Amino acid sequence: MNAPRLAPSLPLAPADPRDNTAVARAPTVLFVDQSGQLGGAEFTLLPLAGLCAPRSEVVLLSDGPFRTRLEALGVRVRVIGDVRVSRIRRQSLPFGWLRALPAIVRQACALAREAKRFDVLFLNTQKALVLGALGKPLHRRPVIWHLHDIMSPEHFGTAQRVVVKWLVRHAVDHVVANSHASAQSLAALTGRASDTPPVVYNGIDTHAFDTPVAEHPDDVAALRRRLGLPEHAWLAGLFGRLAPWKGQHIAIDALARLPDVQLVLVGAALFGEDAYAQQLREQARRLGVADRVHFAGFRDDMPAWMKAMDVVLHTSTDAEPFGRVIVEGMAAGRPVIATAAGGVTEIVRHRQNGWLVEPGDDVALADAIRTLHASPELAQRLARQALVDVRRDFSLDGFLRRMTQAIADTAK
Ligand code: UDP
Repeated sequence: MNAPRLAPSLPLAPADPRDNTAVARAPTVLFVDQSGQLGGAEFTLLPLAGLCAPRSEVVLLSDGPFRTRLEALGVRVRVIGDVRVSRIRRQSLPFGWLRALPAIVRQACALAREAKRFDVLFLNTQKALVLGALGKPLHRRPVIWHLHDIMSPEHFGTAQRVVVKWLVRHAVDHVVANSHASAQSLAALTGRASDTPPVVYNGIDTHAFDTPVAEHPDDVAALRRRLGLPEHAWLAGLFGRLAPWKGQHIAIDALARLPDVQLVLVGAALFGEDAYAQQLREQARRLGVADRVHFAGFRDDMPAWMKAMDVVLHTSTDAEPFGRVIVEGMAAGRPVIATAAGGVTEIVRHRQNGWLVEPGDDVALADAIRTLHASPELAQRLARQALVDVRRDFSLDGFLRRMTQAIADTAK
């Protein structure tokens, strides 16, 4: 891997993303993402691909609502899926990879043919990395990988880690990580501190959260009515796909200790975790809190849903690489309670702009919720500081500027 190059003074990135002359000078990019579903990595790519739309294309390795969202931004999208490849999971054994080898080679060749038409190949996910970087001898294009993951054994199987290590050394020109936690995990994997990639934090469109709703009790009631939520309850909202490591079960355990609180779970099982979703409903029934848990499913309107809450929770039991929902909760002007692991500790400062608890600890989570419930002044102070921090450190413009800079650097 080349040494990180992110000289902020280079003119690549249009300072104003709508500056079309600057866009015209920018390199052409083929973006690749493995998912058709809308997860954090896809929401991060969306505005970048939208900005680069006149000179780029997106290849998805499976179809889904992500394609529609990209196309709505004017992005050209091509889907080249193969179930034998999509079936490989993060923890798959070497055998799983070997069995899919012919399909992997075919897809790598198809991607290489596409990549040849562009200046840079931008790989947004793990499988995109494998297929895009494997084809490098064929396409010979500079490769940039956007690392959205913590490359630890807790998150990925040995086979995947070995493959990633090799590819990063031999076929990737530039890596950008979404947090220092992700960056350091890559250096730990390759065993070379010099491989620590530069960090570009995700940017959130804070303007989307600016709408002055839910600042007055009547506004909150009206908003909740519109969303079908109880108007006068004290609501804790947990946002994100339903998956065991996202810890929705911890929030339900905590709820059982908090008779005056109701829990809103916003998000769906995106990657086949339907059994977990079912378990959550059973857990709520077993604990006698089913009438206080609202399953909202996947929702598009995050600002409204977040502003309808009294507190926004983040309960991941494993280290979160970044945690967009945390930044979004802060942008919505809501106090956030999050688990202290991974990239989260780069966003939330305990008692300053939010509240941190140990991952997997439902008692600590319940205590934290009780504290903020009992002290609206404290909750408000945290939320006010969070808003200041998020506008300063996680702006969408800053993200787009740094990412387009990194792409231009890679193209050189
Ligand atoms: N999200 C959404 N609707 C939902 C649930 C989640 O739009 O019902 C979005 C959320 O706003 C965030 C993203 O999905 O931007 C999740 O990103 P995060 O980094 O929190 O988690 P990841 O999916 O990367 O694990």
